[in-house]
Amino acid sequence: MFDKILIANRGEIACRVIRTARRMGIRTVAVYSDADKGALHARAADEAVHIGPPEAAESYLAIDRIVEAVARSGAQAVHPGYGFLSERAEFADALEAAGTAFIGPPKGAIEAMGDKIASKKLAADAGVPTVPGHAETIKNADEAVRIAEEIGWPVMIKASAGGGGKGMRVVRNAEETRDGFQSAKNEAASGFGDDRVFIEKFIARPRHIEIQILADKHGNRIHLGERECSIQRRNQKVIEEAPSPFLDDALRRDMGERAVALAKAVDYHSAGTVEFILDEERNFYFLEMNTRLQVEHAVTELITGEDLVEHMIRIAAGEKLTLTQDDVKPTGWAIESRLYAEDPHRNFLPSTGRLTRYRPPATADGGDGAERADARTDGPAPAVVRNDTGVFEGGEISIHYDPMIAKLCTWGADRAAAVEAMRDALDEFEIEGIGHNLPFLSAVMDHPRFVAGEITTAFIDEEYPDGFQGATPDDAAIKRIAAGAAAMQLVVARRAGRIGGTITGTDRPPNAHWVVTVAGRVFRVAATRIADGFARGGDGGGPGATSKGRDPRRPHAPIHGRGAVEVVFQDEVAEDGATGGETITVRGDWTPGDTLTVAAIDGWRMAVKVTQRTEGFRIRHRGADLEATVRTPRAAELAATTPEKPPPDASKTLRCPMPGRVVSIAVREGDEVRDGQALATVEAMKMENTLRAERKAVVGKVVVRAGDVLAADDAIMEFE
Ligand code: ADP
Ligand code: ADP
Ligand code: MG
Repeated sequence: MFDKILIANRGEIACRVIRTARRMGIRTVAVYSDADKGALHARAADEAVHIGPPEAAESYLAIDRIVEAVARSGAQAVHPGYGFLSERAEFADALEAAGTAFIGPPKGAIEAMGDKIASKKLAADAGVPTVPGHAETIKNADEAVRIAEEIGWPVMIKASAGGGGKGMRVVRNAEETRDGFQSAKNEAASGFGDDRVFIEKFIARPRHIEIQILADKHGNRIHLGERECSIQRRNQKVIEEAPSPFLDDALRRDMGERAVALAKAVDYHSAGTVEFILDEERNFYFLEMNTRLQVEHAVTELITGEDLVEHMIRIAAGEKLTLTQDDVKPTGWAIESRLYAEDPHRNFLPSTGRLTRYRPPATADGGDGAERADARTDGPAPAVVRNDTGVFEGGEISIHYDPMIAKLCTWGADRAAAVEAMRDALDEFEIEGIGHNLPFLSAVMDHPRFVAGEITTAFIDEEYPDGFQGATPDDAAIKRIAAGAAAMQLVVARRAGRIGGTITGTDRPPNAHWVVTVAGRVFRVAATRIADGFARGGDGGGPGATSKGRDPRRPHAPIHGRGAVEVVFQDEVAEDGATGGETITVRGDWTPGDTLTVAAIDGWRMAVKVTQRTEGFRIRHRGADLEATVRTPRAAELAATTPEKPPPDASKTLRCPMPGRVVSIAVREGDEVRDGQALATVEAMKMENTLRAERKAVVGKVVVRAGDVLAADDAIMEFE
């Protein structure tokens, strides 16, 4: 076994590999760029070697610098993680030449599978069904149109060297094909240094299901079952799970055997993944083979109890697989949510900046991740939370690398339990300072189609056609949130001494009358403190089921705290002060300054994120982001008569929706543009985004040039 390994990567995956190596008693070496001085991965390793400037091409993708770092540190092997150099045959080659082991597959397999055109042919030869199409390099836009016509629109234009959903376009007519050909080519050239593209049939509403492979250098090859990764945006995975709700045992075995056959055909060793898409009739087609550790490998680890990184290290050291196919017996269900620095309200465009707050939920090992579902027992197993991350509070999310912040995984005895655990874990995850997709992930976990397992890669486009605008809670949940706001306001008011004067004797508890507005609904309430100390759990309460048919009411879930408050909430207070409405009890321990609180409201366990405002609170819960204003009846009357200011007219300026670099401007001053016409292309985090006209207009002044670096909301051009 190796004594020391170097991890040629950054972020969460570098941290994740370091964890396993440490457990195995292997010393670790991290590499870092200028942008990653003080980064978590560099601090987590036993040693860290600086390799160059922030640009990946001169640091994490610079083979010579990594090889130099290996020599300097005396590492005997290199784990490449995913992305960066993980699928570059030259890298495996350079390491071999330097006498260093590569913790990955043989060079030949990387070469054969690294190219989508070549690998499609190889898969077909190995008897694996492939997506119909033209697996040859397309020379120019005219040829692209001709081939697309032959295959029949819609088709997918794909970069042969592509990865991470980049360099790929769905096109539906000749004009889109020309545009798509060029932009896919550009993205491929800048992202992968190889601009070859090909075309295949676009499979409508498919499911993405992939098979995890393990193979050693002694000819033993097995699969660890499937992962379903159908929840995607921009052809990039956002939520993954294992197993898949779509497969039965026969199909699972068939896909598994084909994947193993393909691994055999390229003489594979190490961990690898064979990706398929499945149409509505359950026909499966080979997409590509990823010759590396996959981002979403954690869900497989959670259901199998195997540590894939440990297997990779042992295989690279020449050990035999300790598992046979029969030993693989998955239990339970695991889900992964990828937390991205991106703004779901702005069409999921990347977001950058400082993480002013980063507080993940409690995890199984109390640290930032557990490799195995160790907490599993034979009885009704408790859920497991695992969080793989490479960031920390106060750290910076830069434009240089992937926008992924963390991978939050939950394991449960069945799918419903894993989903429920994910809902709680997302609710208890605090991220501030940058745009992120936590509310969106929460909304998906509550979506009836997701809950039913009826997912396809078109899910996000179909269910959120205008982007994600935030979820609206149902009426009962809005009332509970209003109750929570009133309870917190009572705490604030008591602290400020504003209503302390109402205590005239022990038989007269302090109370207050307020008007609470949440999501357009107005409640008149009287809040009363009815208990001081707080030692019990929730108050039980009657049965409660949501419109979605599940019952998240868990009266005995622990709501911990000291200095607790209990408030009676009565809505529809009549003018004379008599209470006419229902009473909602709020139990919790929120104290001004707390940004996350878990309360029992009407017996429901609710984790809410709270920001205090001048008149009330901003409350975030599940996918909803709500302003809860709490006013005295007099202030509410005044507010009702104050006219609202109309928002400024933004339609006359095209603004940059995310921080990035201007690639090109497609129009000139004075041009008349129509709805949907391309105006400018901006690149961020290695992704090109084309900004289009939202209506017919005449271009006035263009205020930026190609190459300019812009912040979010910077003006690009004005319209007349
Ligand atoms: P996975 O299932 O592991 O996400 P994908 O096929 O979706 O696999 O590929 C995603 C991988 O590609 C990620 O590891 C991501 O970091 C990597 N990646 C994304 N953009 C680039 C790039 N421009 N160059 C190299 N790797 C990239
Ligand atoms: P990458 O290397 O970027 O991961 P893939 O070929 O694995 O590229 O495709 C990524 C995603 O794009 C798939 O999971 C799927 O959602 C979508 N996709 C790829 N090819 C097709 C196709 N022919 N039809 C429909 N969707 C496709
Ligand atoms: Mg893929």
